[in-house]
Amino acid sequence: MKVIKTFFIRTYGCQMNELDSEILLTQLDSRGLKLAKSEQEADLIIFNTCSVRDLAEKKVLGKISEFKNDNKIIGIAGCMAMSLKDTLLKDYKYIDFILGTNDLLKINEILDDLQTKNIQINKTSENYDISIDNFFAKRNSPLKASISIIRGCNNFCSYCIVPFTRGREISRSKNSIIKEFKYLANLGYKEITLLGQNVNSYGKDFTDEKFLFSDLLYELNKIDGIERIRFMTSHPKDISIELMHAIKDLEKVCEFVHFPIQSGSNKILKKMNRKYTRESYLEKVNLLRQVVPNVAIGTDIIIGFPEETEEDFQDTFNLFKEVKYDTAFIFAYSPRRGTLASKWKDEIPKDIKNKRLQELLSLYHEILQEKYRSYVGDIRQVLVERLNKDQKMLKGRTKRFEKVIFEGKENLIGSLQNVKIESFNHQTLIGSLAKD
Ligand code: SF4
Repeated sequence: MKVIKTFFIRTYGCQMNELDSEILLTQLDSRGLKLAKSEQEADLIIFNTCSVRDLAEKKVLGKISEFKNDNKIIGIAGCMAMSLKDTLLKDYKYIDFILGTNDLLKINEILDDLQTKNIQINKTSENYDISIDNFFAKRNSPLKASISIIRGCNNFCSYCIVPFTRGREISRSKNSIIKEFKYLANLGYKEITLLGQNVNSYGKDFTDEKFLFSDLLYELNKIDGIERIRFMTSHPKDISIELMHAIKDLEKVCEFVHFPIQSGSNKILKKMNRKYTRESYLEKVNLLRQVVPNVAIGTDIIIGFPEETEEDFQDTFNLFKEVKYDTAFIFAYSPRRGTLASKWKDEIPKDIKNKRLQELLSLYHEILQEKYRSYVGDIRQVLVERLNKDQKMLKGRTKRFEKVIFEGKENLIGSLQNVKIESFNHQTLIGSLAKD
């Protein structure tokens, strides 16, 4: 029997995984286990994994193998537990358990079993356990927290594994969300991010009442204590005019929409199964900017998708130039096992992918520099989050998600401050406290 007194959770991937790790941590904490500073110091290590890229999986497997000869309990949670549920335990005899995204509340049951039986345990049900919605995790940050409002995805983009690892969309009940929102407000949280693979689908699966994502925002905006509400991700095909108006009307809802285009070429969008065209996407961007003139727009882009020609890439480049994104995550395509796209030849050579990636990154950099130059002299409201890495300046974000650093006393952390922008450096605005 392995004695467990300490644990460590290594989290990979998206904000939903961060939240799932907080749910695991809270249960282990209630069990009386102590959080170790590193994997090396822990009796139990949980790798909460991401399956979005094959490379991410390889990294995790490499990391786990470092501990194969140690007398520790090793568990794999998250998307890899789901996508490799049939092989992981057979292929890696030193993994003690796998725990899927629908079974987060079974961690203590697993640990109890491991104390009495010398077996490998597989808890990876396909069906979502709704009681996870009523489990309020302790958060890592005292200021900002995420709340899951819809789990799973119905979209089946051809390159994406998420619908296979997290199942179909299930919206959380409005009462449960409001309860957790109030709970966090009472604890002094200032900013909440509403999470879902596609928040714009929220409520579409309710059969008893009509209550959509924009309705949820109007309800949450009434709750005292929370200063800011963010959300992600917004699938472009599903954004509604009601949501745009909610962003405009509600003072707590941040003017930032993560609105991933993925490609500017209609041919590639079709192959990706994104269910919109560049024209319909641009129409929505224009409408969003008409309704919310100050809105910041973010995107994800995949470069070098199968069959992407130079012309297709130019379509993406020109669309980027037209939209002038405020944030962008730009990746070179790599096939993900188990998806439709992985059956197609990944034929774009690495050097071409890299060249296109660099071109787009340079454009992004130029756009940001031009924007940031125009912000100098502006006064921006910043939620002060913490000391900057240098431990001297304070760091916070605007409602549009721009990072701002400025000099100030530590007791300002957690407050909203007006900061005058004086200069910038890469993706950081630098300013000073504005005089009243
Ligand atoms: S919308 Fe597409 S990319 Fe996003 S999670 Fe769903 S299938 Fe994946």
